[in-house]
Amino acid sequence: MTIAPAELLAHIPPPSGRRLALRVTPAAQRALRQGHPWLFEQAITDQREPGRPGDLAVIFDDQRRFLAIGLYDPTSVIRVRILHHGAPAAINQAWFAAQLTAAAARRADLPTQGTTGYRLVHGENDGLPGLVIDRYDAILVLKVYTAAWIPHLPTLLAALAEVMTAQGVVLRLSREMRRQPALLYGLEDAMTLAGDLPNPAVRFTENGLCFEADVLRGQKTGFFFDQRENRAAVAGLAAGRRTLNVFAYTGGFSLYAASGGAPEVLSLDISAPALAAAVRNFELNQHLPAVAAATHTVLAADAFDALAALRERRQRFDLVIVDPPALAKQEREIEGAVRAYQRLTRLSVDVLAPAGTLVMASCSSRVSAADFFAAVEQAAAEVDRPLHIFARSGHALDHPIAFAEGAYLKCLFAAVR
Ligand code: SAH
Repeated sequence: MTIAPAELLAHIPPPSGRRLALRVTPAAQRALRQGHPWLFEQAITDQREPGRPGDLAVIFDDQRRFLAIGLYDPTSVIRVRILHHGAPAAINQAWFAAQLTAAAARRADLPTQGTTGYRLVHGENDGLPGLVIDRYDAILVLKVYTAAWIPHLPTLLAALAEVMTAQGVVLRLSREMRRQPALLYGLEDAMTLAGDLPNPAVRFTENGLCFEADVLRGQKTGFFFDQRENRAAVAGLAAGRRTLNVFAYTGGFSLYAASGGAPEVLSLDISAPALAAAVRNFELNQHLPAVAAATHTVLAADAFDALAALRERRQRFDLVIVDPPALAKQEREIEGAVRAYQRLTRLSVDVLAPAGTLVMASCSSRVSAADFFAAVEQAAAEVDRPLHIFARSGHALDHPIAFAEGAYLKCLFAAVR
């Protein structure tokens, strides 16, 4: 655990005082007028001088009217991430504080529902593009996806301190950013930026269930908050059902299934550390009679191989949950991802008992909800286990959707004959 020394933050060069003026294509002007948060590199038609990561870029239309202001990143094809549309704005501590306050207000109900772990800032969808802040009870995890945020971090931290209460603030860097140490001024992934982090295994609650997440080494920021509502729906479907949770990670869906009355739950994931955390999360909830009564087993294996092996052994489940990682991150991966979803569907219905329930999710933003649902339905029909989809859903409310690309999660709930 490294604590970022105060001098480190003090030595990050502040954002340059001058603003980069940009002119852009008519299509980009239209998109920005409609509130789109990204300006792509190829949409820039006029730029007089080069810019550095974090410079504020002001975008004008053909009549030289102000369109938007945003964070410039010369290392990304998303050259500007828009902070503010329509009218000029001063981007300073007060502005950041206002965005953070608005984001917190949108989630104000969650703690009253037994949820102290949730997404506080969901990037572009909360007006702070390229930035995610997850709250794990008293710990805030700040995940940064563009170097453009680095010069603004001291101001952002000051705004956070002004409007949020937290014991510690931890920095996590996207894979892309970890590859650009020259732009980080000594900052590193998993550094504590403010306050302290007594233990990297941070406890929080979600709908009254207790969880622990490793905020320094865990995937994303440690937990997948976006599935909270889908996990709650699974609890409602699990009574008396033998349950298989494929791509279980730290056992979120598994624990909800047990709390909802599943007598047996098998958590399957390729990551042994994630499954060890799943076991731990069950231990943390033994005070709940349904969880204490459930038999939880873990299996560390490749999902495709393990599902085929379960089928061969004629093991059957009444409820199967399949929540794979993003399978298409780029355009050219879409077809392969759709085929993988179909293969997973066939393998899953093969281990599903008659009249079982399939819950299947996709977080690949490049695969549309319609294409995903259709692909899964088709694959099940082809092996003569047609689906009756009784619910379709997306993100939890702390993952608002402000633009088309922001809608990445889709989930179907189906009865299978
Ligand atoms: N359902 C989880 C989140 C799943 S994240 C939740 O609600 O918290 C995706 C998971 O898939 C990760 O834990 C990762 O370890 C796992 N994974 C990736 N590839 C895999 C594979 N081939 N077989 C099994 N698990 C895999």
